[in-house]
This record gives sequence, C-alpha cells and structure tokens, in this order.
Amino acid sequence: EPALDDRFTTLLDWADARRDIGIRANADTPADARIAREFRAQGIGLCRTEHMFFEEDRLTLMREMIFADTSEDRRDALDRLLPMQRADFIDLFEIMQGQPVCIRLFDPPLHEFLPHSREGMRFLADALDKPLSEITRRAEALAEFNPMLGMRGVRLGITIPEIYEMQARAIFEATIEVTRRGAPIVPEIMIPLVSAMREVELVKSRIDACAAQVRGRAGVDFDYKLGVMVETPRAALRADDIAQHAAFLSFGTNDLTQMTYGLSRDDAGRFMSDYVQQGVFAEDPFHTLDEDGVGELLRLGAARGRKSRDDLTLSICGEHGGSPEAIRFCRDLGFDYVSCSPFRVPVARLAAAQLVIAEQG
Ligand code: PEP
Ligand code: MG
Repeated sequence: EPALDDRFTTLLDWADARRDIGIRANADTPADARIAREFRAQGIGLCRTEHMFFEEDRLTLMREMIFADTSEDRRDALDRLLPMQRADFIDLFEIMQGQPVCIRLFDPPLHEFLPHSREGMRFLADALDKPLSEITRRAEALAEFNPMLGMRGVRLGITIPEIYEMQARAIFEATIEVTRRGAPIVPEIMIPLVSAMREVELVKSRIDACAAQVRGRAGVDFDYKLGVMVETPRAALRADDIAQHAAFLSFGTNDLTQMTYGLSRDDAGRFMSDYVQQGVFAEDPFHTLDEDGVGELLRLGAARGRKSRDDLTLSICGEHGGSPEAIRFCRDLGFDYVSCSPFRVPVARLAAAQLVIAEQG
C-alpha cells in the first residue's frame, strides 16, 4: 500500500496528464515560491513586488524616494534598493528553476507608503535632512481621497519612472546572474492597473531602453516578455490597442470586480451577506467569478486582444483563478493558464483535469 503522499502525487500526475490549461501560482516570497514548486505549479503567474517593500529599511528607502526633491535624490534611494531587488529576483528565479516567473511592477496604493504618524514624519524628516514642516506639508499634498482609485500601479510608474527602471534593471541583472549559474530564464514583466495604450507604450519604451543598457554594460544578451494586467474595465475594452504592445494579458479579477461593480473590495464585506440574502447578487462576486458581468469583460478583452495578436498569451491572476468554476470559464475562453495562491494549486490541477474528462464523457 503506497504512502498517502505517494497516492496523492499519483493522482495529481494523472490529472496533469489530462488537463489542457496551465496552472501557475501567485508568489512573492521564497517561501511561497517553494510551496508553488512543491505543489508543481508551472511557474509564478503573479509576483506582487510591492510586498517586497514593507520591511522597515526598505519602506524607509521607498519613502525617501517618494519624498525626494530631485531625480538625483530619487536615484540615490533607488540605487540602495536595487541590490535588494536583484537578490529577491535571483532567489525566486533559482527556486523556480527556469519555469516562467511573471513579475508585476510596483503597484501600491500610495497611502501605504506615506508616513501617517508624527514619529514616522519625524523619522523621514531626519533621514532626508529636511524640516518636519516640509515633510508634513508634502505628506498632506500626497494624501488622496480615494487611494484605491488614485496613484496606484502604472500611474505611479508613469509619474516616477525611476521606480520601474530600478525594478527592470534588477530583473535583467538577476536574469543574467541565474543564466550564468546555469538556470536560464526568460522573465515576464507585467504592468499593473493599465487603462490606456499610451501607458503601455511609455513603460515599454523605458523598459526596452533599460534592457539595452544592461545588455551593453554586461555584454550579455537575454530575452524577456512584457505584458499587461487587465484590471480596469477600460483595459478590457481597449485590449486590441493594448495587445499591440503586450505579449500577454493577465486578468486581475480582484480589481476588475471592484471597478465593474464600483464596489470597494475592502468594504464590500459589510453588506455583502445582506445583498446575497436578499437576492441582489446571486453570490459574492469577489469570491465567485461573475460570469454575466466581469466574465463578459474577460470574454470581450480576450477576443479584442487576440484580434491584434493571435499568439497573445491569456491568463487570470485574481483570487478567482483558483476556483473550479473560474477555471472552467477561462478554459472555455481558451486561456493559456490560471494563477492562484500556492495552496490552491493541487485542487486547481484536479479541477482542470475534471473538465477534460467531463467532455470526453
Ligand atoms: C487583481 O487586482 O486581481 C490582482 C491580482 O492584483 P491585486 O490583488 O494585487 O490588486
Ligand atoms: Mg489589482
């Protein structure tokens, strides 16, 4: 009688031999990446890089960068963050052993990176050698009424290009390093919260320039893919334009649900049970993919994106990516893979196989 672990592995191997949609994991720490590998995800579908900056020293550097007066001061803070980011990516690439890793560029709500307490302000004033009053004034100027609809994602990347440049450089230098160590990788870089083609053009041209620079300096060539996260309704509607500059589109259904309903993902819990109970929503759309609304944007975005590029890679990386119903929906649309949290990977592998078996009758 084989051990339970072996039987479990056999079952999943059997599922993998049948399924026809890829399963990746969302992971941004080495621990998550290791779980993703153990559960045999076929790569990382979403690495949320803003999570890499919550530690005290990095947070301070990021704040220094945001509050800097000049591009030079910004670069100074970013130069100190660069080796840390490079090490982050080397770790992830090594753990994933050549499997694809999709790195999402910095996507914070800005308020998470502003000092809120008096001590925080004073600390930053000391670090930047500025009067406290100036830091307070700036923090007030940067505060937003609706941070989730404000300077997030690519908007920050367009306004402060140095952030994405640092990240791209770290990704490319890490790529060169792991390739040198014998585990080559083609990194995937993903732009968050896009709503206009021009955002993609601008970021792409800066990242391409950064790649050229790194290649020149290192005298080594490498490849990479650039893609876009579709998480605003407008990005889905303009997917044909956007796909002209993107090798892949990944649907971020957390924000896409929030923006389709105009319903805060952080506050919906307060009345969701009333809504479901009274039959306004059949189910919580943040848990179950709303096929008639959000799903319609997936269908439309996929079709429009493919119109521009028939080799466009399509995926979903919101929380829905791990649910069997959403996997069915995405497979029906011909998506290449789904990405979900690492612990959901085994069930996703089984669910994906089940779809094929059900079809075969
Ligand atoms: C999303 O919006 O669906 C997504 C995956 O990104 P995040 O949850 O980090 O906003
Ligand atoms: Mg999002």
